[in-house]
Amino acid sequence: MSATDDLRTIGVLGGMSSESTVAYYRQIDQGINDALGGHAAGELLIRSVNFGEIERFIQTEQWETAGEYLAAAAQDLEAGGAEFIVMATNTMHKVAPAIIRAISIPFVHIVDVTADAIQNAGIETVGLIGTQTTMEASFYRNRLDKYGIDVVVPDPADREAVDTIIFDELTDGIIRDESRDRYLDVVDDLVAAGADGVVLGCTEIELLIEQADRPDVPLFDTTTLHVNRAVEYSLGERTEFIDTN
Ligand code: GLU
Repeated sequence: MSATDDLRTIGVLGGMSSESTVAYYRQIDQGINDALGGHAAGELLIRSVNFGEIERFIQTEQWETAGEYLAAAAQDLEAGGAEFIVMATNTMHKVAPAIIRAISIPFVHIVDVTADAIQNAGIETVGLIGTQTTMEASFYRNRLDKYGIDVVVPDPADREAVDTIIFDELTDGIIRDESRDRYLDVVDDLVAAGADGVVLGCTEIELLIEQADRPDVPLFDTTTLHVNRAVEYSLGERTEFIDTN
């Protein structure tokens, strides 16, 4: 039996957008390869949903329908042999409870993984940038609060700018220097408002800004944190799943 035969199969609930799902796929393969060498790569299934539907559900706040849609897609992953699920978006974790209820395999919640990293860095107050839903709804902030982490978000005009850049540019793979500068200004403002680190709370933001852009401000890149955790579970380096209920 080769080493890769021991890998636990990762289920990626993706397509939100495909830009970040591609990053998950490549980074999972890279993480497995770093650990095992040779031509080792991830054992994974990707269930990619229609981002047009997701965007419509977000705009019209049809959260129940979104939950049913994503729960069915998560069940497809389970039926296909996935042993645990990562959903490659922050925003749609708003309906994570509906997904978790529909499956019997573990669900690796992106906020739990991010909170772990924030705690390990010894930080108690973070800035949060992501979609309007992520920045404004309580699901993200409340879950960080359970870990004793306080959240500051940009002011309304900046929230709108950050959200527009995600939907009009990043999810379409458009990377613009002006948008990077705009994001870095928002990061600076969050630090001025008391944040000791900033959560890149949208899985496409790593395409635009990186730690090297602000070496003195810890940036918590949710895509990389989520992928690294999935790789640890797949390799069996970590076996206990956090209770998501
Ligand atoms: N991928 C993004 C996120 O992490 C935004 C796209 C979406 O609404 O799912 O929130």
